[in-house]
Amino acid sequence: MDHSRGGKNEKDAEMPLPWQQIQSALWLVGLAIIAWQDWWWPGILVLAAFSGLFQAGVQLYLKKREEQQQVVEKRVELNQQRAAWLPAVCPQCGGPLSVESVQWSGDALGACPYCEANMRPQTNTTGN
Ligand SMILES: [Zn+2]
Repeated sequence: MDHSRGGKNEKDAEMPLPWQQIQSALWLVGLAIIAWQDWWWPGILVLAAFSGLFQAGVQLYLKKREEQQQVVEKRVELNQQRAAWLPAVCPQCGGPLSVESVQWSGDALGACPYCEANMRPQTNTTGN
């Protein structure tokens, strides 16, 4: 939960087009009902309140959905990072390892599903 990588601008506060159209339709229906019932006051206030509630609800929904999407993306990314350093077989028991089978207790800390040996990235830089 630390820094989020920049690059993405903040989303516009405006709702996507389909939602705007739904809201417009709600307004039209609401105005029709108000005119039909001859209930301009305080009906127009009620309609405005409903409109605001609708917009807030939509934005909450969209935000939640976006967060869920980011969680999924983050998980995929995390699994890719894990797969990059996870050995194909357990160095202790030789059992085959995969990102799915290892029991993760942290972003970069897992346990072999067979012998429960700890798995973590090799940080020795014996590179060329
Ligand atoms: Zn093992």
